[in-house]
Amino acid sequence: MANILIAEDEKPIRELIRRSLTLAGHTVRQAEDGPAALQMIGQETPDLVLLDVMLPGCSGFEVKQQLDPGLPVIFVTAKNSLSSRLEGLGLGADDYIVKPFEILELLARVEAVLRRTRPENEVFELDGCRVEFGTHRTFLDGQELALTPQEFALLEVLVRNRNLALSRDKLLQLAWGYDYEGDTRKER
Ligand code: CA
Repeated sequence: MANILIAEDEKPIRELIRRSLTLAGHTVRQAEDGPAALQMIGQETPDLVLLDVMLPGCSGFEVKQQLDPGLPVIFVTAKNSLSSRLEGLGLGADDYIVKPFEILELLARVEAVLRRTRPENEVFELDGCRVEFGTHRTFLDGQELALTPQEFALLEVLVRNRNLALSRDKLLQLAWGYDYEGDTRKER
């Protein structure tokens, strides 16, 4: 659904991110160092860059400074100090993820940044069902469905993570942003 570039020199981490983002339906390109990342971004502008800070060649911060300020960037790094956090956000990054991270947290943050930064007219269609993310409207066989905001948020998480198996609790956490305390299995 989005074109994402991963700039990361540690292969196992790069592979983990690549696999997860591909499963989530995104197109993924990979760069192993700073100069390669800049070259690939120059060839084709991605929707989002996941940018490691400690990169060979030139640092993620240096890469970010050479990019179009409007290009969405999430820094991914082991540097967990407040000063590097502030430096990353001060450079205009959209988010900052510290290693080690939970892959579902990374996916949720990627989706959050894409939601904020991508065109409003994004649409998902399957089997007569049409979901308009920009307007939060849903149609089944041309008929508009009256979904509550919570229902729409849940539907959006399901669509955006449609190739991932998410637990009930994880779904609720991603959709509604808190740990749901009720008994989610109970019939109403
Ligand atoms: Ca690194």
